[in-house]
Amino acid sequence: MECFKTNHPHRGDTVTDMPAETVSVTGWGRTAPSTARLIRPRTYEEAVTAVRGCGARGGIPRGLGRAYGDAAQNAGGAVLDMTGLDRIHVVDVADGSVLCDAGVSLHRLMEVLLPLGWFVPVTPGTRYVTVGGAIGADIHGKNHHVSGSFSRHVVSLELLTADGTVRTVRPGTDLFDATAGGMGLTGVILTATVRLRSVETSLMSVDTERATDLDDLMARLTAGDHRYRYSVAWIDLLARRAATGRAVLTRGDHAPLAALPARARRAPLSFRPARLPAAPACFPEGLLTRRTVGLFNELWYRRAPRARTGELQRLSAFFHPLDGVPHWNRVYGRGGFVQYQFVVGHGREETLRRIVDRIARRRCPSFLAVLKRFGEADPGWLSFPVPGWTLALDVPAGLPGLGAFLDGLDEEVAAAGGRVYLAKDSRLRPDLLAAMYPRLDDFRALRAELDPRGVFVSDLARRLAL
Ligand SMILES: Cc1cc2nc3c(=O)[nH]c(=O)nc-3n(C[C@H](O)[C@H](O)[C@H](O)COP(=O)(O)OP(=O)(O)OC[C@H]3O[C@@H](n4cnc5c(N)ncnc54)[C@H](O)[C@@H]3O)c2cc1C
Repeated sequence: MECFKTNHPHRGDTVTDMPAETVSVTGWGRTAPSTARLIRPRTYEEAVTAVRGCGARGGIPRGLGRAYGDAAQNAGGAVLDMTGLDRIHVVDVADGSVLCDAGVSLHRLMEVLLPLGWFVPVTPGTRYVTVGGAIGADIHGKNHHVSGSFSRHVVSLELLTADGTVRTVRPGTDLFDATAGGMGLTGVILTATVRLRSVETSLMSVDTERATDLDDLMARLTAGDHRYRYSVAWIDLLARRAATGRAVLTRGDHAPLAALPARARRAPLSFRPARLPAAPACFPEGLLTRRTVGLFNELWYRRAPRARTGELQRLSAFFHPLDGVPHWNRVYGRGGFVQYQFVVGHGREETLRRIVDRIARRRCPSFLAVLKRFGEADPGWLSFPVPGWTLALDVPAGLPGLGAFLDGLDEEVAAAGGRVYLAKDSRLRPDLLAAMYPRLDDFRALRAELDPRGVFVSDLARRLAL
């Protein structure tokens, strides 16, 4: 978690004797740190006590801090670290569902569930997110075009609301739709029951191909995505002219048992990815320049096969390659980085082309850009995905003129009826929010009724007047 201690731990000035300390908190992008009282409830009762004792600056639940921006921060108030509540209560191996605490990570779920032949319904590009964070941001994965976002697979959840009561919340209700993607602002999710996907093996069968430019890429994704459960494209945003938007597509599905070689069939469901070491890694400042990133992108593109089918890959390599690089977010140096992710609907390809072209011409040193086609949206009022094209890129926060440049992109996105992803955001202008999220007023009205004293608040919420 990106938390840095700024003074000695103290115990129990407003909330019993549960662990609490004043720390500097950031998101994964390490921009915009703010200081808050970090409280770590270990029981549901402690969570209730923590919410009741949040104080005038309120509180916000936090999972593993993988939101890139300021969603799980609360300057001058309380941040409720929910990772102390991380039990897996019931795995229904017959029907394929799990009831667990919201503080349990998807990594832990995979460790427990894969040997039983079950997999999480949606995983983002890292396993180190909690179930609470997955619902709070209504995360999407490479299977969005088939499976929708995480909340689609939630059967019910228990929500600790501002008045200190715990409510059972089910899909099809306003409270569910406000909570799925509600960025922790309707309350603290304590537990969730989530439907799972059955798998025969822990390997993936992967097809790889190269696209020569953005139009070629979009054509390939449009023509072929329906054949794959998982699909994503890594896109070279430094390539210019005829190569603008060239990309490597990787698409696949869980490998069936029959696809495994005899040796691998002995333990087809084993899951043993490397664990993150505790010590922080050091990266030299200024490692990421246009030149180094340009070289990296060139190599990445060239070494990818023009076309390869049926490659067996470990699940962790396919879904979470960055989890193997501890503290990779420090590679951007002290200033941190901004992850910018937006979506524009089908029919708005011209906006996507223009934005990719602007980024390529701006020469942003971005080596982690991905393009994906989203499927049907889910009902969460602030849920990000809508059917269309989503592009995500990382940019060093210190890049001169970055703020104005991204503001310009925001305006294009909003004008095209698109939106930026709040879980990645640390800089969006509030005046663009309503155009991007048409259910914003419903969200605000529900919060005003549910939480009239404004107990739940975050830096993101203050910045965007959520
Ligand atoms: C390498 C990397 C790859 C990623 N790839 C993707 C991707 O492919 N798709 C995608 O959608 N996202 C992706 N993300 C973003 C990440 O999935 C989300 O930000 C997710 O919310 C992080 O979960 P967390 O447990 O770390 O939550 P935090 O970052 O701690 O919090 C995120 C939000 O959830 C709320 N929250 C946390 N716990 C609770 C709770 N118990 N109750 C209520 N609200 C809660 C917080 O208040 C906050 O608003 C990626 C992030 C990284 C670092």
